[in-house]
Amino acid sequence: MLIRWLLILLLFGLLFRAIGRLVRGFLEGAGYARVPGGARNGTDKTVPLVRDPVCGTFVVPTRAVTLGTGAARQFFCSERCRDRYVSEARRA
Ligand SMILES: [Zn+2]
Repeated sequence: MLIRWLLILLLFGLLFRAIGRLVRGFLEGAGYARVPGGARNGTDKTVPLVRDPVCGTFVVPTRAVTLGTGAARQFFCSERCRDRYVSEARRA
């Protein structure tokens, strides 16, 4: 009947190891719960801004007043800045 005791001991050993792992898991879980979660990261889209050459204001290209096309395209915060840029370019 020695083999039965050995099996019982083995079972208890496995049981204690499982409980130990469970307790450690709970402690780690509690530790992680205290860390503020960053689930909202990545929701904000960053838009590359362009600089108004007249007043120096940074504007969103899609909402800006534009002048010219392609690489020579200029972006302005308002039509007033664009007109000023045009008049200064003519004078130069
Ligand atoms: Zn401007």
